[in-house]
Amino acid sequence: MPVAVPVHVLVLGGTTEARLLAERLVGDPHVRVTTSLAGRVATPRLPPGEVRVGGFGGPDGLADWIRAQGVDALVDATHPFASTMSRNAVLAAAQVHVPLLALRRPGWVAQDGDRWHSVGSLAEAAHLLPTLGERVFLTTGRMGLAAFADLDALWFLVRSVDAPEPPCPRRMEVLLDRGPFSLQGERELIRRHRPAVLVTKDSGGDATAPKLTAAREARIPVVVVRRPPVPEGVPVAATPDEAVEWVVRKLYAEGPAASG
Ligand code: NAP
Repeated sequence: MPVAVPVHVLVLGGTTEARLLAERLVGDPHVRVTTSLAGRVATPRLPPGEVRVGGFGGPDGLADWIRAQGVDALVDATHPFASTMSRNAVLAAAQVHVPLLALRRPGWVAQDGDRWHSVGSLAEAAHLLPTLGERVFLTTGRMGLAAFADLDALWFLVRSVDAPEPPCPRRMEVLLDRGPFSLQGERELIRRHRPAVLVTKDSGGDATAPKLTAAREARIPVVVVRRPPVPEGVPVAATPDEAVEWVVRKLYAEGPAASG
């Protein structure tokens, strides 16, 4: 049932899924969509609709923004590892009584032939690395390199969108690149740099999955950092389509005051 006034959906972004969701929502004349980006990436791929960049100033700042901008629903479509923002979203949504959804692409699943080591943190990954080999292909992003900074005996190929800042590993080559990555490209990278081990977060999705296939083919072990859990009580959509259904249900069928 269409509503007279556009409903305002705030998408906490920084992921492909957030951009796809914004693309889906802007097509609906009854929806005003704003995507929020943290501002970490120098030249982000911008979604359609309104975009704001930079932190809100904690949960209270986010709650203020939601009130001031008349947001009717909040979708936390941040990266599965952006746990501070996800926690802030829960606190702010509860404060202003706005329904909250988490949009999370499913995690990766190991296949036959994979040699995965599941760890709970970057620190745990760093602890394990010296037992797995000397040459490391590190794809966990430029933030958090400090966890590997003391591993002087190891050599790192660090792939990130923007250049990492210190503290970083001493023996390191940086490859500035942004997914999606092709299987052919990942095979070539492994052939050229001969890493003994790959380190990744369990980011999920297709864009960066070919490295896992290439590692399996090359019989390289992969250290996979597990995701933090989605905050308790928050409903989860696995795809942008599911998130659109939730928005429609919350804002059209149940009305903007609906929560949960
Ligand atoms: P985080 O640790 O959970 O958040 C740190 C702070 O950054 C938050 O408290 C918030 O500042 C601000 N922030 C984060 N996401 C924001 C957003 N979408 N809009 C406005 N402010 C945001 O986040 P992070 O891990 O640094 O990730 C930052 C951004 O990069 C996220 O948007 C995430 O989707 C994207 N990203 C992260 C990863 C990853 O591995 N962590 C990978 C790819 C993309 P205030 O408290 O001041 O509001």
